[in-house]
Amino acid sequence: MTQKVARYLAETSPATPCLVMDVDRVEQNFQRLQAALPNARIYYAVKANPAAPILERLTGLGSFFDAASWQEVQMCIAAGAAAEHVSYGNTIKKERDIAAAYAAGVRMFAFDSEPELRKIARAAPGSRVYCRIFVENEGAEWPLSKKFGCEADMAKRLMVLAGELGLDAYGISFHVGSQQTSSAPYRSAIAKVAMVFTDLAAAGVKLRMVNLGGGYPVRYKSEVPEIEEIGAAVMGAFAQHFGNDLPEIVIEPGRFLVADAGTVCTEVVLVSRKGEADPVRWVYLDIGRFGGLAETEGEAIRYTLRTPHDGTADGPVTIAGPTCDSVDTLYEKSNYRLPMALTDGDRIEILSTGAYVTTYASQKFNGFTPLEEHYI
Ligand SMILES: *Cc1c(COP(=O)(O)O)cnc(C)c1O
Repeated sequence: MTQKVARYLAETSPATPCLVMDVDRVEQNFQRLQAALPNARIYYAVKANPAAPILERLTGLGSFFDAASWQEVQMCIAAGAAAEHVSYGNTIKKERDIAAAYAAGVRMFAFDSEPELRKIARAAPGSRVYCRIFVENEGAEWPLSKKFGCEADMAKRLMVLAGELGLDAYGISFHVGSQQTSSAPYRSAIAKVAMVFTDLAAAGVKLRMVNLGGGYPVRYKSEVPEIEEIGAAVMGAFAQHFGNDLPEIVIEPGRFLVADAGTVCTEVVLVSRKGEADPVRWVYLDIGRFGGLAETEGEAIRYTLRTPHDGTADGPVTIAGPTCDSVDTLYEKSNYRLPMALTDGDRIEILSTGAYVTTYASQKFNGFTPLEEHYI
């Protein structure tokens, strides 16, 4: 938690559940990532946290944006971003949304299939397009399935077709999975993209851009590689596979820019046991999976919790949200421990919750209102 967030929570004691975001930290993360990958152009993955104060700060820093929907495109433009600095990066778009983005000035679009490419050719003629390919997601704590991307051979054929359809065959993208704790998938993906570049050059299509997607990890409960280490590995792979003929490099960080800028503040609703001799207490919070902590699905993302009793005797707990759905259990198998003194009414802080929380909150499940957001 940043000092600014700690001070704000101590001084204002806002109603829970809420998220407090230190927008200065987002700026620091942007600068640090840019320094770690100086050759890369940063397209912030808006879906991680689309709040206007964040988009406005990043616009001021010269960031570009990766939007997943026409609505996100509009949020970027409303925050002051130039439309030509917005990439419409979802490979699944309605044709009328492509047309709306094109009319607003967006000229960069992703695809991973022929029907999508043909939609772009009709609705956004002449635009720059890039094809997303499958890559290894090994090492990602939030991996992506085969939902996105296509095989490299198909990408080659489609990039040739892109040119024939009057589009600008711009480059190749991939995504190594979110919260990627290893640099190896980036390196093997860059090698794979280099082969696509070589084969297409032989076919007369000169690609210019490689989009590394997101995945850059954040420290939750366990250590992750530093971004400088990942940056060095990525640049090493580009030197190895592209030599002096470096392409334009695009990165789409989401989590890395915003996660550790945010803290969720929640109140303990109940601490109980399921049997007289049961050693495990159930701790029910006023936020759960439906309140925005969706990435606790499968206990994939394990957040660090701070309580007013830290440092005193603790014991094993299962941690759950307040709704009447058993899916709303956050951690049962991850060996969480919390102080024995913990009791209802205590406030708990959940650290590094600035990414993928606010937008995942359900609107009114069980009548609970979504968490409040404070940008400071
Ligand atoms: C979600 C997403 C990102 C951001 O991923 P992070 O792991 O949060 O950095 C980047 N690019 C695409 C295409 C995405 O879908």
